[in-house]
Amino acid sequence: MGEVRYVFPYNYSYSRWGVPEPDDPRYVRFMVVVNSDVPMKRAMVRPEWRASYEEMIFTGIVDNRYVYYLDVPRPPDPGFDVKSGTWYFLEDVNGEVYEYVRIEPLFHTSGERELIRLMVPNVIMSFDDSLLDQYTIAYPLMERYGFKGSMGLITGLMGGMWEGKPCITWEQARELLKSGWGIASHSHTHKFLRIDKGATAEDCEYECKTSKEMIEEKLGVTPITLLYPYGSISPEFIPIVAKYYRYGRTVEHRLDDMVTNRYQLGGVALSRENYVIRLAKVNHMYELDPKPYVGFVFHSIGEPGWFNHILDILRYSGCNVTPYEYIRVAPSWLPLSLMAIGFVTALTSIIVVRR
Ligand SMILES: [Zn+2]
Repeated sequence: MGEVRYVFPYNYSYSRWGVPEPDDPRYVRFMVVVNSDVPMKRAMVRPEWRASYEEMIFTGIVDNRYVYYLDVPRPPDPGFDVKSGTWYFLEDVNGEVYEYVRIEPLFHTSGERELIRLMVPNVIMSFDDSLLDQYTIAYPLMERYGFKGSMGLITGLMGGMWEGKPCITWEQARELLKSGWGIASHSHTHKFLRIDKGATAEDCEYECKTSKEMIEEKLGVTPITLLYPYGSISPEFIPIVAKYYRYGRTVEHRLDDMVTNRYQLGGVALSRENYVIRLAKVNHMYELDPKPYVGFVFHSIGEPGWFNHILDILRYSGCNVTPYEYIRVAPSWLPLSLMAIGFVTALTSIIVVRR
């Protein structure tokens, strides 16, 4: 067997982060790239294998990220599959899980992209800001897989621009709707729906109502989901949202059952840079608390390869991909009523037999 080398996706490498390439197979080079200067207490690869930051070698700041590394003996535990490449958690100074550690690269040099199995059975893909490249890139790719998403319209910016990027038109939204996509509201003007950002209850009312009415008027459907602008809402505004919508989606990392917590639904924003880490995190969340739904959030797609990789992973994992608008969650009384129907049917057949 030839030498197996691993590389980071998209030619990312240790050296790309200013860390020397590992050359001793007895050790795993533990590289940590932290998005901020939040002080981390320690890195954790399973509870029994931890490294404190003081032990790690700080190599510098690359792309505004703090880079550390440490060589640790390759663990003998056969259940610990280092070669498959895994990201692990860091704890912050309060012991909260905060970030990830990559211990070894994920992909073979052959260029074959490894497929991670996503454990969460149901996936909702929502698209914030209704950007044109979501329509031109994500939509046709998803069609090939038979996946439908939820497009979040900023109803006041249709055919216009959001943060320098073109938005889709009403006509394009109509096409998505016809092809089986869900249409969600992402507010009317993308105003922050937070009191600490200066929003009032009247602002929230206006954003919820205007956006909903415009979608009804232009597309003839009633939106049931509000994708919160900037992924966040003040709890005080939730009763207002609840007057108009069935679901409200944040960008907080959690799984859902789609019955409880319907106005604080989780949303894991995926990008080319973070999706490998975040899919691993979603699996970890599922191990801790196996709720059946995960929401993925997309902004501009840009280069299609990474997005296509996610679709491959979802297909490989057998995930059920459904827009918010087509989710059917059995209400809690359903099992009882089914039992009642079963009972009546049994009774009827007894009667029939007796005749
Ligand atoms: Zn947005």
